[in-house]
Amino acid sequence: MIKALIGLLIAAIAAAFIRAIMAMITKEVKEMVNPEAPQKPQSTAGPTSSLKKCPVCGTYAPADRQYCSEACAAKAS
Ligand SMILES: [Zn+2]
Repeated sequence: MIKALIGLLIAAIAAAFIRAIMAMITKEVKEMVNPEAPQKPQSTAGPTSSLKKCPVCGTYAPADRQYCSEACAAKAS
């Protein structure tokens, strides 16, 4: 009677353990696959969003600069 209970308990613990390991493996596989997926939209959206068209000559310059060069800034002012 007690042996059967212990057997059930061990089976339950083993099942939970296997489930936890399977969850860890699937999570690791997802993490191995996923980093490539979020990086792609970031790398495509990043440069385009950080680039700004120069209002003077139309050249794309980093967004932190209003004009592509000092010459264009001088022309605009
Ligand atoms: Zn320019």
